[in-house]
Amino acid sequence: MSFNFEKRVAIVTGGSKGIGASICEHLSANGAKVYSLSRSIPENGNSNVTYKQCDVSNFEDVQTIISEIHKEAGSIDILVNNAGVTKDNLIMRMNEKDWDTVIDINLKSAFNTAKAVARIMMGQRKGKIINIGSIVGTTGNAGQSNYSASKAGLVGFTKSLAKELATRNILVNLIAPGYVMTEMTEKLDEDQLKAFLDNIPMKRGASGEEIAKVVGFFASDDSNYVTGQVLHVDGGLAM
Ligand code: NAP
Repeated sequence: MSFNFEKRVAIVTGGSKGIGASICEHLSANGAKVYSLSRSIPENGNSNVTYKQCDVSNFEDVQTIISEIHKEAGSIDILVNNAGVTKDNLIMRMNEKDWDTVIDINLKSAFNTAKAVARIMMGQRKGKIINIGSIVGTTGNAGQSNYSASKAGLVGFTKSLAKELATRNILVNLIAPGYVMTEMTEKLDEDQLKAFLDNIPMKRGASGEEIAKVVGFFASDDSNYVTGQVLHVDGGLAM
């Protein structure tokens, strides 16, 4: 499926690598003007993407940068909350900092960006917000209580925002990937990886592009009557 995002402005958090880079690539290849927000700027980034340095867990910095992008680009049509980190540990070993970091980067960041774009999208009377959750936000996962809580939090946030903003034609959905081959999942050792893949009905992980194409659907006019939904993109892992 390919979409026409010409004259659309998109902000993608964590577009510097992994799934976010694939999302930037897909949206820009289909005509969108794309801005990526991340803490570091990639050396060999996509020449069609504008990279801005920003820690999305910082409320003030996010308000400032989104206001600057709005002034520069004239509208904000698509927001993809993709930035995320893991700090895995069993609860007995997890420290307060690792809890707070994961909640701030994965969950609070979505409040920070949505707060900044909501007023702009309300003025436009249209907009698409797509949050990237995770399968573990539904299933939970031992050793990932902070990460799973942040992703489950995003589900509640998505549905609440969808209800608040529906009359303004701002549609909010969440994609829950299973296993995607990126730096985040490179941390798994061979045995962990084998056990993980064995459980997936399709017996393989996703590429970033396979996630990006579903983002494209939610960002496009083909989903203009879809809001508040959680779509698992996981090769059948969670059913
Ligand atoms: P990744 O390769 O580690 O990339 C993470 C991205 O987030 C990077 O661009 C990183 O850039 C950015 N980021 C991290 N902290 C940030 C901060 N404080 N402010 C701004 N940007 C920040 O991860 P990924 O695998 O592509 O994951 C992307 C999203 O998909 C995450 O939300 C993740 O939870 C979710 N997900 C991934 C999988 C998977 O199997 N890979 C499965 C389910 C869900 P900087 O470090 O430069 O800031």
